[in-house]
Amino acid sequence: MKFKSGSRRRALEYEKDWVQRWKADKTFERSVEQRPASKPWVFYDGPPFLTGTPHHGHLLVSTVKDVMGRFHTMKGQRVERRWGWDCHGLPAEVYVEKALGITSKKEIGTKISISDYVKECRAAMVKTGTEWEDTIERLGRWVEFKGAYKTMDKEYMESIWWAFKQLYEKGKIYEGEKILIYCTKDATPISKSEVAMENSYQMDTDPSVFVYFELEGDQDESVLAWTTTPWTLPANVAIAVHNDLEYSLISYEGKKFYVASEAVSRVMQDEKHQPLGYEVLKRVKGSELVGRRYHPLFENRGPQAHRVLHADFVMAEDGTGIVHEAPAYGEDDYELCKRESVPVVSLVDADGNYTEGRWQGENIWEVNKLIAKTLVEEGKALKVEYVQHEYPHCHRCGGKLMYRAHPSWFMDIQGQKEEMLAANRTTHWTPDVLRTGRFNNIIEQAPDWNLSRDRYWATPIPVWKGERTDGTEVVKVFGSYAEFAESTGKMLDDYHLPEVMNLTFELDGVTMRHIGKVLDCWFESGSMPFAQFHYPFENKEKFESSFPADFIIEAIDQTRGWFYSLMAVNVGLFGKAPWKNLICTGFINAADGKKMSKKLKNYTPPMELMDKYSTDSFRFLMLSGPLTNGENFALADKDVGEVARKLSMIWNMYDFFTMYAEVDGWEFSGTLQDPMPDLSTPLDIW
Ligand SMILES: [Zn+2]
Repeated sequence: MKFKSGSRRRALEYEKDWVQRWKADKTFERSVEQRPASKPWVFYDGPPFLTGTPHHGHLLVSTVKDVMGRFHTMKGQRVERRWGWDCHGLPAEVYVEKALGITSKKEIGTKISISDYVKECRAAMVKTGTEWEDTIERLGRWVEFKGAYKTMDKEYMESIWWAFKQLYEKGKIYEGEKILIYCTKDATPISKSEVAMENSYQMDTDPSVFVYFELEGDQDESVLAWTTTPWTLPANVAIAVHNDLEYSLISYEGKKFYVASEAVSRVMQDEKHQPLGYEVLKRVKGSELVGRRYHPLFENRGPQAHRVLHADFVMAEDGTGIVHEAPAYGEDDYELCKRESVPVVSLVDADGNYTEGRWQGENIWEVNKLIAKTLVEEGKALKVEYVQHEYPHCHRCGGKLMYRAHPSWFMDIQGQKEEMLAANRTTHWTPDVLRTGRFNNIIEQAPDWNLSRDRYWATPIPVWKGERTDGTEVVKVFGSYAEFAESTGKMLDDYHLPEVMNLTFELDGVTMRHIGKVLDCWFESGSMPFAQFHYPFENKEKFESSFPADFIIEAIDQTRGWFYSLMAVNVGLFGKAPWKNLICTGFINAADGKKMSKKLKNYTPPMELMDKYSTDSFRFLMLSGPLTNGENFALADKDVGEVARKLSMIWNMYDFFTMYAEVDGWEFSGTLQDPMPDLSTPLDIW
């Protein structure tokens, strides 16, 4: 073999050639097959949303996944690497809604049938794969795409049913009503962790209103309550004060009303912060107000309603030290009113419209201001004040979120919290401080997990219900398609809604109907250790020999996402942690330190970076920075360029060599001899 001067090739060309060669030779597949199944090194791949596009963060974890897999392959272990897709849930539905021009959940079932909508969802999940494959291939990562598990596969979904029933029978899943964060546009609850994960708080300016609630009795007194959510006033059923706070009775423009003494000077101001002409008549303890009744602002909600209650959460720092209670729309309020046997009044439908009263049919966000203004005009409120506050918005549609009482299915996290904390202690993390700190705290503070979603495109919750003639409830939970067939006489090709929802059956003379809810897609991705193998219906040994995983890696946001759902589901089912070793990476930011943003165009797409500087340079930088230690990194193009410059030194040597090899006419004989025996000086040896 002869060498030619100037035959150096560009990284872009030879890297792509290498990938083709691996493909042609099936190098990856053979590297797995050649190693014995008795020496596995198990890796779980966290499934990205199929509708997302690959970004720098995916390439970071993909690089580590590749390097770790190759390292253990070289050590003689069998490292199966199977890709996974998260196909379900709101992200997928929002993607399809955009494509179909659907703007609210109401249109599903009217503008398009549920059946067609679900078909569209499925079709969209098949289309969007190649961009990922191209990018991951360009990165040089060895992973099996062809046999990728998909959370929408029939077999995968059956394992989910099995898991649900197991947990239900262990008493770890229950139905309840809780105050949840809810999106009226998408007409579904959103989990707290989703809101926290996506950092969904925005600065909003909203009307707050100071409302008079007229106390019963002949003294002609009121209490002045303050609220930043005027739309909840029609659902008012109680007023809360604090026993130990002092309240002043104010006389102003012919009205007499109570305000917490600390708050008086702040509340009794006009828009220009000038004091209003008021008088303090007397001062009383909050406990003296507790127990008094007041005239309802709108409808009368019965003898248990419209009382002044004591609540620990009442403070005088904000507002008037007097809180209006609409228990259907606030967590603290709900608990207080349940405890005090005050009725919970709901008057907003799934889409956020009033179902009764003066504003029936109107949307709560649209009449929020109007309600505040109307109350002032009618003399039922002192004033409206606009407040700037952080308010949660839906991370999918951008709409305002509300809190509301909503019937849902929960996983009992409180009951297995100690077990989860203990399981976490058996795992190894890099960096360890995220295990002992952040993740430990997330588990400690976790509420019960709301598993149900009022949507269409996800695994239906396998629960059917009916009512006996005496009004008692019958519940049937299915843990397999065979059980389903036993009761319904049907085997289906597809167990998504609406097919499943439309099937009824008789149980002891009771007609059973599906509850119409689907599962949180995080429950599905958390089930991947067994669901990817269709366990326990198939691959029993395969699953048992690959649980827990030797290794998983994702970015720090997954401490609330996949890491958490994996831990919760698998501790619930198997009583132990689903991984042994975990790397948690930080986030890659743009060079300016800000989040990479398509709008700001503050970054170079990863494919361009790799084409310009070489994949090796990009991978090297990913591995050598602080990212793999859980820290963030601001990525500048020149950093990749700097690595490329260092790597080019090797090419410079090659240039030097080919130049002289050509001049001397030196040829490579085709065999490589070990030069070591001929070397005599330490310098040469080294
Ligand atoms: Zn939304």
